[in-house]
Amino acid sequence: MSHPYQVEPAQPEWPRLSGNIYCIGRNYADHAKELGNEVPAEPVVFLKAPSALRRLAEGPLAFPDETFHHELELVLLVGRHMKVQSDVGPDSMAAVTLGLDLTRRAVQDQLKKKSLPWTIAKSFSGAAVLAPFVSAQDLDLTKIDLQLEVNGEVKQVGHTRDMLFPCYTILHYLLSLQNLFPGDLIFTGTPSGVGPVRRGDQLRVFSEALQMNAEGRL
Ligand code: ZN
Repeated sequence: MSHPYQVEPAQPEWPRLSGNIYCIGRNYADHAKELGNEVPAEPVVFLKAPSALRRLAEGPLAFPDETFHHELELVLLVGRHMKVQSDVGPDSMAAVTLGLDLTRRAVQDQLKKKSLPWTIAKSFSGAAVLAPFVSAQDLDLTKIDLQLEVNGEVKQVGHTRDMLFPCYTILHYLLSLQNLFPGDLIFTGTPSGVGPVRRGDQLRVFSEALQMNAEGRL
């Protein structure tokens, strides 16, 4: 399939990141359902370590023999310091991109059964994949389409209007607990269609609203 936008260069400028990576789980009802989870009453939050970050177009993943699940997500880049318990403003976000929350699903299922933290299923080298950022200025975060292709096949198609907790609600929720800092990243959850990927797979993320069409090999 062809796309109207240019593919991004392989090594775009990397913004200054704080190292904090917040992730929201079960933020689309159809995805919660596909994994047999209940729709949550408040946001499900987990963390990835900064050492999990990788660009979409970067060298091969460190794990040649393991299969992961792709989770396509809108990722927010916090633009300014916001104090705990403060209000969210329109200038809270500097930029956004599409990212993949790579997940060791079988490991996560085991951890869930034992009521243990998900960390080793969610945080490992290359587990937080980022496409190049685009400015958040003038973006309506409730109107972002997102799409993932793996090896030329469309695997996930979503839209932020279907989020259970919209972006500003997520920010507000996180701010009820802690300060947010410029360079904090927030993975906002995945729509349905999660499935297997492994090293060597060709990935393409696409959004008309973001004018994004970026690719890379895992
Ligand atoms: Zn996720």
